[in-house]
Amino acid sequence: MFQKSTWIRLPRSVVLGHDVLERTREVVVETHLTGRPLVVTSETPREVAADRIVAQFEAAGDDPEVVVVEEATFDAVEDVLEAASGMAVGYLVGVGGGKPIDIAKMASDHLDVGFVSVPTAASHDGIVSGRGSVPEGDTRHSVAAAPPVAVVADTGVIADAPWELTTAGCADIISNYTAVKDWRLANRLQNVPYSEYAGALSQMTAEMLVDSADSIKPELEESAWMVMKALVSSGVAMSIAGSSRPASGSEHLFSHQLDRIAPGKALHGHQVGVGSILAEYLHSGEQGQWRAVRDALASLDAPTTADGLGVTDEEVLEALTSAHEIRDRYTILGSGISEDAAVEAATKTGVI
Ligand SMILES: [Zn+2]
Repeated sequence: MFQKSTWIRLPRSVVLGHDVLERTREVVVETHLTGRPLVVTSETPREVAADRIVAQFEAAGDDPEVVVVEEATFDAVEDVLEAASGMAVGYLVGVGGGKPIDIAKMASDHLDVGFVSVPTAASHDGIVSGRGSVPEGDTRHSVAAAPPVAVVADTGVIADAPWELTTAGCADIISNYTAVKDWRLANRLQNVPYSEYAGALSQMTAEMLVDSADSIKPELEESAWMVMKALVSSGVAMSIAGSSRPASGSEHLFSHQLDRIAPGKALHGHQVGVGSILAEYLHSGEQGQWRAVRDALASLDAPTTADGLGVTDEEVLEALTSAHEIRDRYTILGSGISEDAAVEAATKTGVI
């Protein structure tokens, strides 16, 4: 008897392009979000985007509230929940490079209201997915929530963001290669459910980005467009899979561990990029694809070494040997790799 079931949650609208920020309220109305909007943002995104959105809500008589957050912490989530408790909040709008969006996502999950994602930088794939986490002490609060009801990504705003944020987004997409390899491995060895559709989509997204690496340049709206489309595509792969597996494997475990060992040194995407070089080496050895991954990262101005990340060789080795402890996710790291193996992988690939 057939007993399978699957539930794929996708954003209802993804609006991407030139000047689409001016259409944020139109998108909200079209997606049937109602009530008072609570806009979650931080200082710079407020100036470049959130104020313009708030003006649209005010002009329409929506009576918006604004919370400005600085750090992606659980305290910041609490601040948003407190602001929401003082008003009959209809939905949340996260405006920023990632942190305000993560916070809005977690708060909306808690409040059980919809949220709209307005990325001001193409810095990682969390801006289009329901998945996110914020650190709290030595652990992380994670959500596997619904994706944003709508995504409004203005290529003009995104092209103006610091270039390193875009290169981090590119590296996050390139990491799909090793994420998919880890997922397939977990499927073979641990019978973890694998989706051919999601795996193929995720891998193709990385391939398309690498193929167009030459035309991804600073301050070009066309480049912002290509990177955002890839991030959306990665997010859709995660929605189809119902997990972050298509875009998050051992390279992400490595990055999460670096966050604990050397906090605030490098951007998420840059860390997973370097993690991908190492993971690729661990998967296929010296003759494998790690050079292609490294060259793709380098061609997009993303770091490929410990130095480039601003961390020490020891920190890289500690992260690599302890990354398997982070969460119960089977990857090429298995139950951990030895110090010697870590030194070998990091040295051969030139990461240290
Ligand atoms: Zn990522």
